[in-house]
Amino acid sequence: MQFKDVARVDVDGRTICLDCSGELSYISHAHSDHVSGKKKNEVIASDATLHLAGVQFNSKLVHERVKLHPAGHMLGATQIEVQRDGGNFVYTGDFSLNDGFTYKGAHIIEADELLIESTYGSPDYHFPKKEELAEILKKEIQSRLSFGNVVFAVYATGKSQELIKMLNEYCNITPVVSPEVARVSEIYVKHGQPLSYINSHSDEAVEAFRENFVGIIPKSQFRPELRMRLTQHYHKPCYFGSLSGWNAKFPSEVFDIALPFSDHADFNDLVEYVDHSDPKKVYVFGAFAETLSNVLKLRGYQSIAVK
Ligand SMILES: [Zn+2]
Repeated sequence: MQFKDVARVDVDGRTICLDCSGELSYISHAHSDHVSGKKKNEVIASDATLHLAGVQFNSKLVHERVKLHPAGHMLGATQIEVQRDGGNFVYTGDFSLNDGFTYKGAHIIEADELLIESTYGSPDYHFPKKEELAEILKKEIQSRLSFGNVVFAVYATGKSQELIKMLNEYCNITPVVSPEVARVSEIYVKHGQPLSYINSHSDEAVEAFRENFVGIIPKSQFRPELRMRLTQHYHKPCYFGSLSGWNAKFPSEVFDIALPFSDHADFNDLVEYVDHSDPKKVYVFGAFAETLSNVLKLRGYQSIAVK
C-alpha cells in the first residue's frame, strides 16, 4: 500500500491531505519533508509551523471534528485527530514522547484508526534521556574547547534550537550560529522560546571569534574539508559534532563528537504509543515500517506497512 493512499482523510465532504498538497492541507510540522509547497489554499496547522515553514495560505480551517494535539519533536509540531462517523482517526507525523529542551512531549491519543510515522521503528534504536546526553556533551565540549573550536553540523530547524538551549542551560555557552540557524531561532524567540546565540554575520561575532567558540552550521553545509579550512583560518584545531538518532547505530568516522540525540520517538516509544492508543487498525509508514508493523502484528494489532 502506498502512503499517498492513506495520507488523506475525509470530514464532512472535504478531503484533508496529510503532509501533502491538496485543496485542504494539514502540515504536521515545519521540516521540509513534511511541507510540500510554500503556497496553500486552505491549511490546518499550528501558527508556529506556518511561521517556521514560511507557508503562504488563503485561509485556515477550524472544524469541530478536527483537533490538533502536541507532537513534541519541535516547536509547533502537532498530531491531527479527526472524528469520523465510524470512529476517530489519528495521524502522528514525526513525534517525541519525551520533553525536549524547547518543546513538551507528545500526548498519546486513543484512536480507532492510527497512521503512525516510524522513523526509528527498529529494536536497534534506543535513545538515552536528553539530560544524560547533555551531561556527556558538556564534557565532550569542555575537553576540546581549551584547545580549539567546536562546530556542530545539525538541522537548521529544530535540532539547532535544541542545541542552543542545551548549550545555554547546561554549558553556559552562547554559540555562534550561521544566518540560516539565526533566522529560525528568531522565530522560536518570537513564539516564546528564549534562546541566546550570536549570528555569525554580526559585529558581536567578530568579538566571539577572537576566543575559542562553539559554532552551529546547517547539516547541509557540512563538508569534511571544512575541518582543514577552519583550522587554517583560526590557527587552531576545529572539532566537529553531530547530534542524530542515527548515531545510535552508525559510529561516525567524520565527527569528533557524535551522540544519539534525537527529537524522534525511539523503538520503545513507538510501541508504547500504539499500545496506549490501542487502535483497531494501524498503518505504519516511514523507515522500518515493515519491521515495526511485524512487531505490532505479533502484539495482536491489525497492522499494515505503507510505502
Ligand atoms: Zn520532523
